[in-house]
Amino acid sequence: MKTGDSGEFGLISRIAAQVHSHQGVITGIGDDAAVTVLTPDMQLLTSTDMLMEDIHFRRRWHDPYRLGRKSLAVSISDLAAMGAIPRWALLSLAIPADLPPNFITECTHGFLAMAEEYSVTLIGGDTCASRSGLVISVTIMGEQRPELILRRSGARPGDDIWVSGTLGDAALGLKLLDFGFDSAQPRDSAGHTGRSLSGAEGAVSRLLDPTPRVTAGLALAASGLVTSMIDISDGILADFGHIAELSGVGGCLHLDDLPVSDCFRSIASAFNDFPHDLPLSGGEDYELCFTASPGDREKIIGLMKKCGNQATAVGIVSRQPEVTVVRADGSSYTPLSKGFNHLI
Ligand SMILES: [Mg+2]
Repeated sequence: MKTGDSGEFGLISRIAAQVHSHQGVITGIGDDAAVTVLTPDMQLLTSTDMLMEDIHFRRRWHDPYRLGRKSLAVSISDLAAMGAIPRWALLSLAIPADLPPNFITECTHGFLAMAEEYSVTLIGGDTCASRSGLVISVTIMGEQRPELILRRSGARPGDDIWVSGTLGDAALGLKLLDFGFDSAQPRDSAGHTGRSLSGAEGAVSRLLDPTPRVTAGLALAASGLVTSMIDISDGILADFGHIAELSGVGGCLHLDDLPVSDCFRSIASAFNDFPHDLPLSGGEDYELCFTASPGDREKIIGLMKKCGNQATAVGIVSRQPEVTVVRADGSSYTPLSKGFNHLI
């Protein structure tokens, strides 16, 4: 395995030397298993995600540092969606022979920087050779008091459907990269790249370096106002669909109420045939979608403001099991696509 002169064990000890330990780690990397302690009265939440080259990312678009950050961010986002506190992570890498020597070093720097930002400790993992592209597998563990854990299954007919932040930026970023926008291009003195598009860098950054909404997830869990929650990895249409299915309800999404960023609006207005329903079906925004009683609207808006985020009511949960989309004039809308298929 070509991970440097010292091979697998050298790679693991170089990674271990950079790990900062946080709460609850008795024995970290280096033994047969890690030993951790849960905070009293908390339950353990575990989630795993795999990022595969040319399915979830492309090496020509994704620099190794931001790839490392994203590989952990998407897992942290799953814990944020349950209202949990992220604590520990496992990182496994299948490494192809043609990977440049510094790629894994940069990638682990990115991973560990994201870990530090969210007080997550890397406690183990595995490495092996790959014959078909880089594979990054991350398992995340977190904890929360049982009564605060939020699930997909609690939405009730009549609840508002909410989203944090803005939608569609990451999918727009993917379109821009596909179109030939180069996020690594040198800038001129005015900060413009060769393909100058105002806000393009911001959209690409939402795709390549997403932010998990942990603070908002924890605040929503602690509020006791939220009946169900999920993170938006495949577009709100598909992800609210998961809430609907597990809650035994349906819902109506208001297309024209979906929040978009200034950058999204300015780029969308520059093209005639812009796929305007990216905020509905575009993936990888990693915002939170949740449901709550309409009586709690003001509290939800205030709570999210305190977290430095925003919340927008984008629909209503219904008793009928299907999920529909309507325009501002009340006409029904047929989505261009049902959900996001990553790079496939
Ligand atoms: Mg998820």
